[in-house]
Amino acid sequence: MDRRSFTLGTLGLAAGLAAPLPVFSQPRAYTGPNVILVRFGGGVRRAETIDEAATWAPFLRHSLAPRGTFIPDLRIDKLEGVNTSHAEGTLNLLTGRYLAYRELSAVSDRLEPTEPTLFEYLRRAYDIPSHQVLLINGEDRPQEEFFTFGAGDHFGIEFRSEMLSLHRYKLYRTAMQLAEGKLPEDQLLKVQEERATLLTQDPRGSTPDPSPEVTAFWARWRQGFGDSGFKNPRGDRLLTELSVRAMADLKPRLMMVNYQDPDYVHWGNASHYTRAIAIIDEGLQRLVAAADADPFYRDNTIFVITPDCGRDTNPLAELPFQHHFNSRSAHETWAVIFGPGIGKGTVDTPVDQSAIAPTIAAAMGFAADRAEGAAIEGAFL
Ligand SMILES: [Zn+2]
Repeated sequence: MDRRSFTLGTLGLAAGLAAPLPVFSQPRAYTGPNVILVRFGGGVRRAETIDEAATWAPFLRHSLAPRGTFIPDLRIDKLEGVNTSHAEGTLNLLTGRYLAYRELSAVSDRLEPTEPTLFEYLRRAYDIPSHQVLLINGEDRPQEEFFTFGAGDHFGIEFRSEMLSLHRYKLYRTAMQLAEGKLPEDQLLKVQEERATLLTQDPRGSTPDPSPEVTAFWARWRQGFGDSGFKNPRGDRLLTELSVRAMADLKPRLMMVNYQDPDYVHWGNASHYTRAIAIIDEGLQRLVAAADADPFYRDNTIFVITPDCGRDTNPLAELPFQHHFNSRSAHETWAVIFGPGIGKGTVDTPVDQSAIAPTIAAAMGFAADRAEGAAIEGAFL
């Protein structure tokens, strides 16, 4: 049976399941490696990232790829209905499946997973608190605020990850400002409006409040960066700052960092794209340096670095570098995986994007049993 018929078959099976999946009665203590999954995102092409001579990410290509397993030919399968885009690719990485999502609301492109994510698998299998399973998100992608747990008959909210993003910080800050009651009248109205707008961005309305640990994280963040929004770094540098502080303060076992800024190339300026790739490369240097310097992470952390999707290669298009036209290079990505237990070398055969989730699952000692793909052969020692 090829994967496509397998997919359709299991989808049919899943739709017919009425009862929730059984939950292990006694989650075990987790003693495996930490995993940091970096979405080298916003859609990047191989040409500007892993091409040895042309790369704008020299640390990734020349320092990190040789540290572990390098997969230069990771592919997003050409299936009916598969869109090579950010939310879709991210959910492919998190579920190990294609099309494992549905639209959360008709008015936006907000997708929510309909199959278990890595966060949910991990927290179902092991006794890990929510603040140690983290998703780090950008500011202007509220559509990615919904990946922490999914809908449907699978594990759900009890096994969610927590989220760190500027959106979440603003929710914390506005709540505190209103509770403190120190604002003059004109500012009070502004903050009330700001908070009302923030709250409308989650149509599920069911996202639980952050844990006390994450609330304390935001209190420290506010002490450092204040209420103005002008002091903290912006864009993908902000994601690096959130991630490094989260590693120091919250000690996540599984953390996904959703870099995104190369995507600004949609508006046509190629130098924004290559600059954004270089900024992610700098972010990788900070993340890896933070892991190498911290006894909690040093020699006990696996990095998985991979894009959400590729981009088009059409120099004749008015706006080159799009990724919605189902072109070959939009399906072409790559992965770099290194850390304890991971072999060194280049995988010279094509690997499907749906293999990433089961590979992370295998590294952490649980089964992503609804994933379509299998763990990458040859990635482990
Ligand atoms: Zn895009």
